[in-house]
Amino acid sequence: MEVRRHIEVSGIVQGVGFRPYVYRLATRRHLTGTIRNTAAGVTIEVQGPSEAVQDFVDHLPAEAPALARITSLSVHEAACNGDLDFRIVHSQAGEEVRTLISPDVAICPECLHELFDPKDRRYGYPFINCTNCGPRFTIVRDIPYDRPSTSMAVFPMCPACRAEYDDPLNRRFHAQPNACWDCGPRVELWNKLGRRIDCRDPIAEAALGLHTGLVVAVKGLGGFHLAADATSAAAVALLRERKRRVEKPFAVMVPAVDTAREFCELDEGARAAMESVQRPIVLLAKRTHTAIADAVAPFNRYLGVFLPYTPLHHLLLREGGFKALVMTSGNLSEEPIAIDNREAVSRLDGLADYFLVHNRDILLRCDDSVVRIAGGVTRQLRRSRGFVPVPVFLKDEQPSILAVGGELKNTICLTKGKHAFLSQHIGDLENVESYSFFHEAIDHLQRILEIQPGTIACDLHPDYFSTKWAQQQRDAHVVGVQHHHAHIASCMAENHLEGRVIGFALDGTGYGTDGHIWGGEVLVAGYQDFERAAHFEYVLLPGGTAAIREPWRMAVSYLAHHFGRDFLNLDIPFVRQLDRPKTELLLRMMEQKLNSPLTSSCGRLFDAVSALVGIRHQVNYEAQAAIELEMAISSSDDQAAYRLELLPDGQNWVISTQPLFEALLEDLGKSVPPGIISRRFHNGLAEAFAQLACVVREKTGLDRVCLSGGVFHNAYLSQHLETQLAVAGFEVFTHHEVPAGDGGLSLGQAVVAAARLDGEGHH
Ligand code: ZN
Ligand code: ZN
Ligand code: FE
Repeated sequence: MEVRRHIEVSGIVQGVGFRPYVYRLATRRHLTGTIRNTAAGVTIEVQGPSEAVQDFVDHLPAEAPALARITSLSVHEAACNGDLDFRIVHSQAGEEVRTLISPDVAICPECLHELFDPKDRRYGYPFINCTNCGPRFTIVRDIPYDRPSTSMAVFPMCPACRAEYDDPLNRRFHAQPNACWDCGPRVELWNKLGRRIDCRDPIAEAALGLHTGLVVAVKGLGGFHLAADATSAAAVALLRERKRRVEKPFAVMVPAVDTAREFCELDEGARAAMESVQRPIVLLAKRTHTAIADAVAPFNRYLGVFLPYTPLHHLLLREGGFKALVMTSGNLSEEPIAIDNREAVSRLDGLADYFLVHNRDILLRCDDSVVRIAGGVTRQLRRSRGFVPVPVFLKDEQPSILAVGGELKNTICLTKGKHAFLSQHIGDLENVESYSFFHEAIDHLQRILEIQPGTIACDLHPDYFSTKWAQQQRDAHVVGVQHHHAHIASCMAENHLEGRVIGFALDGTGYGTDGHIWGGEVLVAGYQDFERAAHFEYVLLPGGTAAIREPWRMAVSYLAHHFGRDFLNLDIPFVRQLDRPKTELLLRMMEQKLNSPLTSSCGRLFDAVSALVGIRHQVNYEAQAAIELEMAISSSDDQAAYRLELLPDGQNWVISTQPLFEALLEDLGKSVPPGIISRRFHNGLAEAFAQLACVVREKTGLDRVCLSGGVFHNAYLSQHLETQLAVAGFEVFTHHEVPAGDGGLSLGQAVVAAARLDGEGHH
C-alpha cells in the first residue's frame, strides 16, 4: 500500500550535508517526494510502499551526517500524490529560510585523503573542504548560510567545483566554501614588513623558517597563531620574550595522536576528545624527559595538545616533519586574536618573522577551545572554536534575553526558544581591543539569530565593562544577577534542573550583594533567587587587585587575621623570607583598612596557601598560584585533611579557616613537604564542603548539589568532593557543556533573568 508522510526536522540540519543524505536515503528505497529547507530546519515529504517509508523514517535520525544535530522530528500522515521521483526543492528567493549555523569543523578523513593523493585534482590544496568539514561560523557574514553571505563570495566557482556543488550525490553538494586550485583562495608568505616573498611553495618556506628557530604567524580558522618549533628551547624562549608572556603554558600542535603519546599520558577519553571534529586543545599529563622544551609549560604537570584541523596545518606539519609546534594565539598577552592579514602585520609587529597568510577572510575571530578530561567526562575550560555557535539546549522555552557575562574570560549569551547561544571566548574586557570584540560578538550573534532582546542580564559589579555597557543601552530592561547565583544557575540550566538546589560556587572574585568580594559561597538557589547559606569568613584583600597578582599578600592577610602580629615571630621559611619593610607597610594598610576590601574568596585562600608553602609569591597569569598548588599535590596516599570549622551565623554558617592555618603552620614547622601540605589542604576543603552539604540538607531537605565556579577546574578537588558527596547520598551536578569558570557565567545570567521575567509576568 502506498503511503505518504510529512516529516519536520529541526536542529542543525542545514549546511551539513543533510539534504543529499536524505536524497540518498529516499532514492535507495525507490521512494518519491521532496525535501526543502525551512525556517525551523527541513521539511521532507516521502511516498512509497508503507514498509519502505517506515524503514526510511526509522533510519532517518540514526544515519544522519556527523555534523547534523536533530533536536526534534515529527512525522504526520499526508495524502499521496503523483510524484515520480525524489527532489531537492530549492528555497524561493525571499522565502524565509533561517536556521542554526554550524560551527567550524576540522578537515574530514575523505578530504585529508584527497589532500595527500597526488592523483587528486586538489592534491596539496590548503583549502580543501566538503559538506562534512571546513570553515562555517568564522566565514559567515549573515544568514541564510549561503555562499554570497560568506567570505567565499569573492571566489566564483570554476565549472568543476560548480558541478560538484550542484550534484546532490556529491560530497560537495552545497558545500559553501567549496574551492580548488583553479578558483579558490591562495596562500602567500610575507616577511615581517608584510611584503610578499616570492617562492614556489610558501608553506615549505615557512616550515624552513620554523626549523631555523623563527616565529611564524600562521592564519588559521578563527585567527592567527604564532608558531614556533616546540622542541627548540631557543625558539620557545624567543616567542615568550616577544609575546611578553611569562610562564603561562603554550599549547602545542602535534601531527597525530601517537606523537602526543610520546609526550603525554593519553587515555581513551583524551584520544576521543583530541580526534573529535571540534579538535580542541586537550590538557594531558606530561611525561618527563621528552623532546618538548621545558619552557613550553613550565611548573605545570599538564600540556595542552591538539591535532591539526585545517588542511594548511596538515601541510605545514607534514612539510616540516615537525613533532610538535607551539601554536599560541596571535596576540599580545590577553588581547583578542588577530584575524585580518594587515591587522596581523601591524599588531604582531616585532612578534613574527614571517606571516603565512591567505586571502579567504576570517569574518569572526574564534580562539581554540580548551578541554580537560576529568572523571571520564570532557570539561570545557574555554568553549570556543568548534563548539560555537551550537546552542546549549534548555529544558523549556525561554523569553529572549541578552546576557553580557562577567569581566574576565567573558562570553555573552542569547536565548531564543529552547536554545541558549553562547558566544566564542571574548577574553578579558579590561583591554580596549577585547571590548570592541565584545561589541562585535553581540552584533554578530544578534544578527545571525535575528533577535534583539529587550532584556539584558549583567553582573552586579558596577565597574565591569559589561555591566556599564548594559546600563548604557537605552530602552533595555536591565536585570542584575549576582555572580555566584549566575554560576549555580548556569550549572542548573545545562543539567535541566528545576526547583532549588544546594550550590557550591567557588571562584576568585565576584561582587556580593553586601558590597564585599565573594568567592567561597554555599547558596540555596533556584533560578529566580538565592539565599547565602554559608561562606568563607571574610579576610582583607590588601591592595585589592595587587593582592591578586601577589599571593604573598594573601598569606600575610590570613596570618594576621588568625594570629595578629604574632605571626611575625613564627620560625617558618615564609616568614623568615618576608621583606620586612614591605610587610610592615602591608600590615599598616590593613590595620587602617586602606584599599583593603573584605573577601570570602576561595581562590584567594588557595593563593595564601600557595605562597605559604613557598610555591608562588607572585603570579604571571590568572590563577597561577592555585594551579601550581594543585600540580604540587603529592601522589602519596596521605589521607590527612586540614580541618575547617563551621561557625553559626544567625540561620547560616561561616566557614572558619583558623584550624586549617594552625595545622598548616604546625606542618610547616615540621618541614612537611609542600606536596603533602597541598594534599591535606585539598582533602580538607573536600571534607568541609561535604559536611556543609549535610548541614544544609538537614536544614532545607535539599539533596541535589551543583558545583560551579573556576575553582572546579581543579580536578583533584572536584573528584574528591564529588565522591564524598555521592557517598553521603547527594545527587551531584557539574558542568560539561560550558565552563565552570566565568566563561559559563552568561548562561546563568540569561536563565536567571528569564525566570525573573516569568515571575513578574505572573503578578
Ligand atoms: Zn571534507
Ligand atoms: Zn574550482
Ligand atoms: Fe566567577
